[in-house]
Amino acid sequence: MSLLRLEHVSAFYGPSQALFDVSLRLDQGEVVALMGRNGMGKTTTIKVICRMLKHRGGAVMLDGQDMARWPSYRAARAGLGLVPEGRRCFPNLSVRENLIASARPGDWTLRRVFDFFPRLGERAGQMAVSLSGGEQQMLAIGRALMTNPRILILDEATEGLAPVIRNEIWAAIGQLKRDTGLSILVVDKSLKELSRVADRGVILERGRSVWGGGFDRLDAEKRDRYLGV
Ligand code: ATP
Repeated sequence: MSLLRLEHVSAFYGPSQALFDVSLRLDQGEVVALMGRNGMGKTTTIKVICRMLKHRGGAVMLDGQDMARWPSYRAARAGLGLVPEGRRCFPNLSVRENLIASARPGDWTLRRVFDFFPRLGERAGQMAVSLSGGEQQMLAIGRALMTNPRILILDEATEGLAPVIRNEIWAAIGQLKRDTGLSILVVDKSLKELSRVADRGVILERGRSVWGGGFDRLDAEKRDRYLGV
């Protein structure tokens, strides 16, 4: 049984339909890349998974349980750790306070997050607003880890970051996969990095999942058609 499974999901913003037919699965310990050009429904799919937006048709299942009527707090308790687009840390709380604010019992503690991202430890007392973009992204990942999630979901994992910092974020994701076996769903624009870290990819095109599989099966024609600009 898949840890997370979406089957033929549709979703709306008011009257306008954003998802028409999205299916994907994430198994235990897997890293899956959610891809597609701007506006194709990646963030909306993540909102549906995290119960920030209710789907209208199809099914969203965690451990085989239908999440249709779950409120978002229950989804958080069920182990969905979201690193949102734009990071959204509390700007006027310190690094330590940001991390503590999202803590739930488990293996990930303040100390472990600081071991994992030493730069956060060095800046523990600093306000989040004073961090660089890369450090804020580390903090956003740290916050999600502090919830001790079963699934880590990264929306635009490296958006707006300098190349050297991007590499650090990719290295961190790779390390989480290797060392913790965490299941990860990741959205990013870099196909090259995604294909290195992810086991599989799913492509969204106008609110539909139109392709899924291993990166070795993603040929140039599909890449250009679905991911080209
Ligand atoms: P991006 O890479 O630009 O973030 P995306 O693939 O994450 O794109 P979504 O943000 O999921 O795409 O958007 C999917 C569709 O839903 C788009 O047509 C978008 O305009 C629409 N949409 C997104 N958010 C809202 C909203 N709050 N209200 C109405 N329509 C929305």
